[in-house]
Amino acid sequence: MEDVLRIAIQKSGRLSEKSLEIIRNCGIDFQTDSRVLKEKASNFPIEFLFVRDDDIPTYIKDGVADIGIVGRNEFDESGYYLDVVKDLKFAKCRLSIAVPNDFQYEDLSSLNGKRIATSYPGIMMKILREKGVDATPVVVSGSVEITPQVGIADAICDIVSTGTTLKMNGLREAEAIYYSSAIMIARPGFTNSVSKKNGILTRLLERIEAVELAKNKKYILFNLPAEKLDEAARIIGGMKSPTVTPLMDKSWLSVQSVVSEDRFWSVFEDLKAIGAEGILVMNIEKMTE
Ligand code: ATP
Ligand code: ZN
Repeated sequence: MEDVLRIAIQKSGRLSEKSLEIIRNCGIDFQTDSRVLKEKASNFPIEFLFVRDDDIPTYIKDGVADIGIVGRNEFDESGYYLDVVKDLKFAKCRLSIAVPNDFQYEDLSSLNGKRIATSYPGIMMKILREKGVDATPVVVSGSVEITPQVGIADAICDIVSTGTTLKMNGLREAEAIYYSSAIMIARPGFTNSVSKKNGILTRLLERIEAVELAKNKKYILFNLPAEKLDEAARIIGGMKSPTVTPLMDKSWLSVQSVVSEDRFWSVFEDLKAIGAEGILVMNIEKMTE
């Protein structure tokens, strides 16, 4: 059989678009037809499996897919022992305890003896146990925020982003207990295996990292009075050397370098102050260190 890396991706939801964007930014071309389950890339040995996010850890465990992109919350809730290949740092969210407005909440111990509704009983109970809190989970798969009103729970533990849904249901966020973001997962040992598939994953990760690295960098190009070169090198700092090209007018040089985004404006101003002219700034699409 042809060696193809199988990646499980959420079919439609908060993770879908960004997951595909990451792969597309690696120069990998594919069609996305929302009706299909499987899709192969045209220029890279990777095959997509579009599924519900809750099923992704199971598919990885069972070997249906080699790797997957899923929220850390779904992965931890699955309880499976899998490898976290990479934190992709999007779809950031938190799991919080929320209580009715009249609930006297001080800290987690206020939950002792209470019923707490959640879709994440595994994560919640592990944390509460660690803190020595004895509460009863009420497991619901959706509309967690209505459970106190209907009398089946005293508090809830749910994913919170803005808090608007909580407010609409007479609840307030009491405490965040867990943080999640999208991660790439694989079967245990997959990333250490000497296999063609793992070789494909290595190539994919290299590309993802090149895109990530480039995202926080700018390419700058400017003309500089020749005698200011040492000063400019000091201002730019942090890299091997700028590329320097002589200009027709011998008293001027053209200088090129890469600067990190967070230092960009101070570098820009300092270069101007020593007489740099025609400063050109470009985004970098991909880069290796
Ligand atoms: P599916 O139909 O695939 O089961 P779902 O409804 O369970 O989808 P989504 O709502 O698309 O899942 O959320 C997917 C993941 O996105 C969650 O597991 C979580 O990691 C993250 N997430 C959830 N809510 C938010 C939020 N408000 N902000 C950011 N990320 C979130
Ligand atoms: Zn889901």
